[in-house]
Amino acid sequence: MLIFRQLFDPQSSTYTYLLADDDCHQAVLIDPVFEQVNRDAALIEELGLELLYTLDTHVHADHVTGAWLLKDRLGSQILLGKDGGAKGADRYLEQGDRVTFGNRFLEVRATPGHTDSCMTYVLDDVSCAFTGDALLIRGAGRTDFQHGDPAKLYRSVHSRIFTLPSTCLLYPAHDYRGLTVTSVAEERQFNPRLGGALSENDFVGYMNNLGLAHPKQMDIAVPANLKCGRPDRTRQPDSETDWAPLNLTFAGILEIQPEWVEDHLAEVHVLDVREPEEFDGPLGHIPEATLIPLGNLSKQLDEVSKGRPIVTICRAGGRSARASLMLQQAGFKHVANLAGGMLRWRAQNLTVVGAVD
Ligand code: FE
Repeated sequence: MLIFRQLFDPQSSTYTYLLADDDCHQAVLIDPVFEQVNRDAALIEELGLELLYTLDTHVHADHVTGAWLLKDRLGSQILLGKDGGAKGADRYLEQGDRVTFGNRFLEVRATPGHTDSCMTYVLDDVSCAFTGDALLIRGAGRTDFQHGDPAKLYRSVHSRIFTLPSTCLLYPAHDYRGLTVTSVAEERQFNPRLGGALSENDFVGYMNNLGLAHPKQMDIAVPANLKCGRPDRTRQPDSETDWAPLNLTFAGILEIQPEWVEDHLAEVHVLDVREPEEFDGPLGHIPEATLIPLGNLSKQLDEVSKGRPIVTICRAGGRSARASLMLQQAGFKHVANLAGGMLRWRAQNLTVVGAVD
């Protein structure tokens, strides 16, 4: 079975696609975004997948790719089109190449025109294709920089995307209206720039008169993407998480493991957010823990230590996850939720006060 997830970066309106073969857990990620690497890595880990490759559809101008960071973190290889001038990829793709993951593969189709190295990735059974910015939902990528060429783009779309089966679903790299998917049949008929009876000349005339401003991120994004997203030393997405071994879940919660907390109790402030009768109840509580029930937390923020990292805890880790997010929103920099709460703490026979066995 195929695992498929469509992920969204609201800052740049970019879609990232996770594809994996469920039988052998091998995965690829199309168009990862630098700022979303923690999210993507958490999802890949939670689904138990091995990320083989990141594939960019092209050298983006509106966001920095997460390819280098994912390689650094998960060991994935960086793949992208060969004519884009990007340095540091593990493999440069050409028309007709195949990218295999488990028993599945993506076919590489060169669809230049938005940039000269744009690639469309077509799933082996032609049920879906990832068009990057070559073809957008009822639109097309701009052609006024990065060696863009509207005539080339028209030919790419007509010869290599519109020739796919009419039922083939098309997933673009961006959408600015929240639309998520289209199909070959729909775009052939309804695309206002490329579909219906519109000719190459019609398209060129349309594209040469878009009059768009350059993307805000372009001066940062293009040079970074020409290095496959390798960051400058100053640009790390998670500098607030290096005080302990933390795990960011796909739900966006920073978690910490009980054993580490037990070994470092003197260095952290344990904040228990259960009700008083639970704190003094049979599960007991962690030595030196402060009790502030979740319902009172927003009114009692000034009682929370600012000098030490905060570890939030409750019975099973749910309410304390909410507390950790509230503290982060209130400006606390070093906060983590204790994974599994008191139930896991007790199951691992760690130190408690006031417990009933
Ligand atoms: Fe683009």
